[in-house]
Amino acid sequence: MRIIYFITITVIQRNKILGMGVNLSGRIYYATALSYSFFYFNEEPLSKIIESKVGIRTFLENDSRAMAYGEFCAGVVNGEKDVLFLNLDHGIGLGIVMNGQLYYGKSGFSGEFGHIPLFKNEIICHCGKKGCLETEASGWALTRMVQEKLQEGSSSVLTGRKSALPEIQLEDIIAAAIADDMLAIELIGAIGENLGKGIALLINLFNPELVILGGSLAVTGEYIRLPIKSAINKYSLSLVSNDTQLKMSKLGERAGIIGACLLVRNRMLAIV
Ligand SMILES: [Zn+2]
Repeated sequence: MRIIYFITITVIQRNKILGMGVNLSGRIYYATALSYSFFYFNEEPLSKIIESKVGIRTFLENDSRAMAYGEFCAGVVNGEKDVLFLNLDHGIGLGIVMNGQLYYGKSGFSGEFGHIPLFKNEIICHCGKKGCLETEASGWALTRMVQEKLQEGSSSVLTGRKSALPEIQLEDIIAAAIADDMLAIELIGAIGENLGKGIALLINLFNPELVILGGSLAVTGEYIRLPIKSAINKYSLSLVSNDTQLKMSKLGERAGIIGACLLVRNRMLAIV
């Protein structure tokens, strides 16, 4: 296992490692140690399986929630207590911090923002339902839209880089946008508008001080932030959204790692 190899080569002595945090996407609750979306083994907690192999106390967390916590403790958050963190990647994740605490909900599954039925379409989502926000506003939707446009004959730097359309990945589209590709920029704008509609709904519900845009799509910067901001202005109640700041993640891809470490520290200290 790569984890065991990493622990072997790291400069930190094994007996100094208090615990290990594992971030996964999907429905996960640290308190039951079960991962329902990936590696679900007949009610046997995934963390216990990892612990038995590695020999270190292990805690699971939803990736977006860990990223939210990392950003809250060591990132762009500057004293704000009510914060929403969007993990914009292939899917759409949401970490909710309310009054300075991560919000889990009754069963630990809060934040299923990507699966609110906001659109009337016939696109089947990964969750099995149709019309979810993810079908029109995620990296997965962006990849589909780019492939459709290229099939219709749109020109883009992407066509020269890959021989077959299905080979075009989200990373390629992000790189193309950063390299000023018009098609990539236009379609990032389109999913940004759709995302902003969903975020306007969140702002109306939570009245947060700060909304953070993170995940791989956040590296496109203003290309995604401006259409989101414009849609928030259009769709949210101005009295509610006036005091809500919209910022990009400061930690980038390190947010989840830092969040996982800090959450393990909290749990180990609470347990001891
Ligand atoms: Zn869905």
